[in-house]
Formats: sequence, C-alpha cells, structure tokens
Amino acid sequence: MALLVLKFGGTSVADIDRIRNVARHVKREVDAGNEVAVVVSAMAGKTNELVAWAREASPIHDAREYDSIVASGEQVTAGLLAITLQAMGVEARSWLGWQIPIRTDSAHGAARIESIDGDELIHRFCLGQVAVIAGFQGIGPDNRIATLGRGGSDTTAVALAAALNADRCDIYTDVDGVYTTDPRIEPKARRLERISFEEMLEMASLGAKVLQVRSVEMAMVHGVRTFVRSSFDVPESINSNPEALQPGTLICDEEDIVEKEVVTGIAYARDESQISLRRVPDRPGISAAIFGPLAEANVNVDMIVQSVSEDGSRTDMTFTVPDGDLDKAIKVIEENREQIGYELIQSDRGLVKVSVIGMGMRSHAGVAATAFRALAERGINIRAITTSEIKFSLLISSEYTELAVRTLHATYGLDKAF
Ligand code: ADP
Ligand code: ASP
Ligand code: MG
Repeated sequence: MALLVLKFGGTSVADIDRIRNVARHVKREVDAGNEVAVVVSAMAGKTNELVAWAREASPIHDAREYDSIVASGEQVTAGLLAITLQAMGVEARSWLGWQIPIRTDSAHGAARIESIDGDELIHRFCLGQVAVIAGFQGIGPDNRIATLGRGGSDTTAVALAAALNADRCDIYTDVDGVYTTDPRIEPKARRLERISFEEMLEMASLGAKVLQVRSVEMAMVHGVRTFVRSSFDVPESINSNPEALQPGTLICDEEDIVEKEVVTGIAYARDESQISLRRVPDRPGISAAIFGPLAEANVNVDMIVQSVSEDGSRTDMTFTVPDGDLDKAIKVIEENREQIGYELIQSDRGLVKVSVIGMGMRSHAGVAATAFRALAERGINIRAITTSEIKFSLLISSEYTELAVRTLHATYGLDKAF
C-alpha cells in the first residue's frame, strides 16, 4: 500500500465525461489498496474566463478579490469529482485550501505555500476516504483565499505530497510526459523517460509550461518522486506502478539517469520585449541607475547585454522585460532620464526567447556555437544571448519561433531515438 497524490490539469477535467475518466483513474489506485489524495485544476479555459471577467469589471483591481474570483473554478471541479467518485462507490470528500488548511504568504495572485496541515487528511485516509483537493489555492495570513500563480495546481500537488510524505506524486496531463520540446510546436519531439530536477527547473522557468516552476523547486527540495503522465490513457489498462511499464516521465536526481545527453531539451517563452538605451555614459553606477528603479517598480528584467563602448565614454545597454511590463518599464526609465543620461530609448515587443538546456553543457565546449551556426544558416537573427552552466537562451523575432525550435531540436539530434 502506498500514499499517492494524483493531480489532474484543466484539459483532464474539461467536462463531465473527462471527470468520469479521472474518477476511474482514482478508483484504480484505490482498488490497488493505495491511499489517495487528488488535486484538481479548474476546467480548461475556466481560469482564463474568470481572469477576463475580473479585468472587465475593473482593469485595476484588489488582488484579494481577484483571488476570490479566480479560485472558484477549482471549487467546482473538486465537488464534481467527489460526487462522481461517490456515485462509483468510492468514498470521497472535497477540500478547499482553507479547509485543510494550506497556508500561504501574503502575495495574493502569486502566493507561496508556507505550510500544510495534513493531520485531518491522514485521519480521513484511515477511514478509507479519498481527499479531492482544489488546486491553485490556499489561505493567506489575512485569512483570505490566496492563489498560487497560473499553473499553480502542480505546486499544490507536489507540496501536498511533501507534507503527507507521499510515496509518489503523479501529474496527469494532456501529454504522456515531458518531451524534448513542446510537442505542439515540434511533432518530432520525443518523450523523456527521466529528466533531472535541475533540467526540469530550467525547462519550466524558460517556458515549458508542463509543470509550474515552483512545483519543480518543491519536488527538488523535498525529494518528491514526481511522475508526469497522460490522463487520456485508458485507466483500466494502466498498472498502478508507473515505473513498471507505463509511458511517462520521472523527474529525479541526476544520479538516477544512466543515459546522459549533452542537450536534453529546448524551451521557448513568448511575449518578451526588448529595450535598448543608446549612448549611455560608460561609468560605474550606471547599471544601478537603470536597474534599481526598475526593480523598485517590480519590473522583471531578464536578459541584459551591454555593448563595448566605442571610445570608452558611451555604451548601449539592451535588456528584456515581459511584454506586459514594457509600458511601465519605459515610464520608469524616462522618469530617471537625467540620472541615467542616455540619448535615445528604443523598444520592440512580441519577441521570443528560445533556450537550450542540458546538464552535459557543464563538460562540453562549443554547444552554443553550434546553435549560432544553425540559426545563421536559416537567416535567423539573434538579438541577445545569455548563458549559464546548463543552458543558454537566444532572443529572436517571434515569426521565427517554430523554425528556431525545430532547427535547434534537429541540430542536437533530439528527434533521433536515444
Ligand atoms: P495541465 O492543464 O494538465 O496543467 P498544461 O497545459 O499546463 O496542462 O501543460 C501541458 C502542456 O505543456 C502540453 O499540452 C504541452 O503543449 C506543453 N508543453 C510545453 N513544453 C513541453 C514539454 N517539453 N513537454 C511536454 N509538454 C510541454
Ligand atoms: N486553473 C489554474 C490555471 O489555469 C491553475 C492550474 O491549472 O494549475 O492557472
Ligand atoms: Mg498546468
């Protein structure tokens, strides 16, 4: 007997038929003798609809009320799954974040889980009850509902698995695992049997939305065995032990991966904006003068490129921010024009950051150079580059997204059998 946390995303609970399918997955695990907590997302599209309503009602709104609105989608699916399980003869009860409670910090809209009290759930497992938990939500220090940021149900599931000391956390979604890149963009993408926590963290932070970044952090810190698998597989045909036979991807320690590739995957993130400040004085303190006020205004600056100055006195500074922050960033820079002393500000929105990720980069030279060559051959201009130990990222125009992802995917041989 094992204690399992199963998580089902929006497309897996998109209508009553799919909720019945989820219930059959849950029943299979219960029938195999396991104790089960299930975390559900809102039905596909529901959260977007709720966010749009909040914006329509008032473009600038109170984050606590935003949370109370957008958390409601998960309440519906938790209740629906509980009654569907009951109708199948499985004892089940739904739980909202505050009822457990899942305590968060005060950052409404992007709250972090601080603690989970698992006592009542464990007591209910002993009575033979399945717990159906609304994902994406907790309760803040102000005693109000707080949501965990988009995609946050993954984090609810992994955090719960850590708090309950579960044997496994299965993330069921609309793909049967983590792929070498988004299979919606590159049909030749391949499923990875295993991926290290570190690589998954990079993939998620650089745009692969199959897992929320914080869920991967949490899994890494607490050593939660996390498995990504498809909810569309026929429940009855699946063995309860996913490591035995089933397709899927295990997120695990690097040591548990035998076949190590230099490059593991390609990720991309849309909606990036580029800002260039031309002819900035090249003196100590200039970066602080630019990025200090942006940080104070909560603008998330990502890539930063400083050109070599022509004569040692003036330089160009280029950096990226999310599209949504562009207007705010320009306003902040213009307000600080005197302190910064730039001559001209230029900006471009709607760019894409494509990233190549792999542990093998730590020990192989020239991995990035191969990408530059491959993109140049296809006429794709690289506007900015950043590198770190196990990844590099390239900023390009959005019209080249598919071409760049597919080119890099092929360049590193990711479409071939491992
Ligand atoms: P859920 O609603 O189940 O949480 P998401 O839509 O959040 O599902 O995440 C699953 C989607 O992530 C897939 O449909 C796929 O298009 C996308 N995705 C992006 N990159 C990858 C990747 N490397 N591997 C698998 N899926 C990916
Ligand atoms: N329903 C929320 C969202 O769409 C949380 C999730 O799906 O994980 O962001
Ligand atoms: Mg998701």
